Amino acid sequence: DAVDLSRIGLAGLAVMGQNLALNIAEKGFPISVYNRSSNKVDDTVERAKEEGNLPLRGYHNPQDFVLSIQKPRSVIILVKAGVPVDQTIATLSNFMEPGDCIVDGGNEWYENTERRAKQVAEKGLLYLGMGVSGGEEGARYGPSLMPGGTREAYNYIEDIVTKVAAQVDDGPCVTYVGNGGAGNFVKMVHNGIEYGDMQLISEAYDVLKCVGGLSNEEIAKTFAEWNRGELESFLIEITADIFTVKDNLGEGELVDKILDKTGMKGTGKWTVQQAAELSIAAPTIAASLDSRFLSGLKEEREVAAKIFKEHGLTDVFGSKTVDKKQLVDDVRKALYASKICSYAQGMNLLRAKSLEKSWDLNLGELARIWKGGCIIRAVFLDRIKKAYDRNPNLSSLLVDPEFAKEMVERQAAWRRVVGLAISNGISTPGMSASLAYFDTYRRSRLPANLVQAQRDYFGAHTYERIDQPGAFHTEWSKLA
Ligand code: NAP
Repeated sequence: DAVDLSRIGLAGLAVMGQNLALNIAEKGFPISVYNRSSNKVDDTVERAKEEGNLPLRGYHNPQDFVLSIQKPRSVIILVKAGVPVDQTIATLSNFMEPGDCIVDGGNEWYENTERRAKQVAEKGLLYLGMGVSGGEEGARYGPSLMPGGTREAYNYIEDIVTKVAAQVDDGPCVTYVGNGGAGNFVKMVHNGIEYGDMQLISEAYDVLKCVGGLSNEEIAKTFAEWNRGELESFLIEITADIFTVKDNLGEGELVDKILDKTGMKGTGKWTVQQAAELSIAAPTIAASLDSRFLSGLKEEREVAAKIFKEHGLTDVFGSKTVDKKQLVDDVRKALYASKICSYAQGMNLLRAKSLEKSWDLNLGELARIWKGGCIIRAVFLDRIKKAYDRNPNLSSLLVDPEFAKEMVERQAAWRRVVGLAISNGISTPGMSASLAYFDTYRRSRLPANLVQAQRDYFGAHTYERIDQPGAFHTEWSKLA
């Protein structure tokens, strides 16, 4: 009896799957859920009861699960990326029928999605790779969703995802991204940008603390104040919160007790690898990744600190007395300008990939669906959307008239912050990389002429001239 069938199914009930399933049920779409280990099924069913008798049914058997969904079936998979997705597809596809659709919501490598789409197509199944951002809260109350794959398959879930996604002033934070693995790729770059944002914020903290001597309380107030202006965003908001949390196991604030070693799961690395593959400069995102690598060398850094101290070089040095108010204002501007450079890099990577794969990505629309739900959500994304609305073929965000003006207004403060950090021995890899990116991009002439001369000198690679066309070679050693 068709009335008894669920509108959609979801397999994989860890943090993300459980919350997304409850969100879908709460929006009025009856859902069937399944997980390899059955305790998570029972937990999810229990939560669905507690959170208001939501229309959710749990299954311990994959066949019963699949057969409980109305045709053509849509099944979202939210398990650990990689082999678990292949295993889950193998389990479920046995019971699925031609015309049914699999939607992988994990942080999957886009080529895996393209491979699986081909593989399941042999059984007549459709496939989507859908980036899901926003963590636990987002999944439960409104994530940013980045579905890509077969357009026809998107039609199966469009009514659901548009209700389930975060809602912002100009619509739900979901759009059909493009075919193949476009949705996963876009989510990957989103995560790369997230690495950049987090690194830049941590550098702002470092400068405020180590150069400005601000206390945790002052830093909390500073971020809270910044969150009322141009930097307003989820990451700035949670940063302000973090500095207010007391240590439950000792004195002072918890943040000071946390080991300075960063974890990572791979999407930032993939972003930098893809940027290199496509010859797109992404120095801010690369600097964020490198900073995570270096943070991991905690023991080595402790040894190095000791060795340099023995040679008279302390951890942080040269501290001049600074005007705190001015510093706070400068760091805010440096953070904003650095962030624009980082987004310019991410967007250029997306465009390059879009051209390579003929995905026809709409960069303005991607900025729009990132305005809510996801980790990088920020007021600032509306400005990016508008920049692409003004000119969809914008070569770089930096040269959009509005952003160009903002960069110029902030550059003096930005240089002061980076200069001050360098002279105090505090590394600001993200801010420095952004500034170098800006200064390189905006200069019509670079010292690349010398690199070309060297290449021609030792390798006869030839060079072009500024005053006439053609390839030239010089016997440099004979003339020098
Ligand atoms: P997770 O920790 O990545 O994965 C746990 C889930 O995978 C469990 O349901 C587990 O089932 C299942 N699983 C693992 N190996 C399996 C296998 N061989 N066969 C079948 N199922 C298997 O879960 P998550 O944190 O909820 O993330 C799910 C996906 O969303 C991941 O791709 C993740 O990268 C992505 N994501 C996560 C977040 C986040 O904030 N956590 C945010 C955005 C995107 P059992 O219970 O049986 O072990």
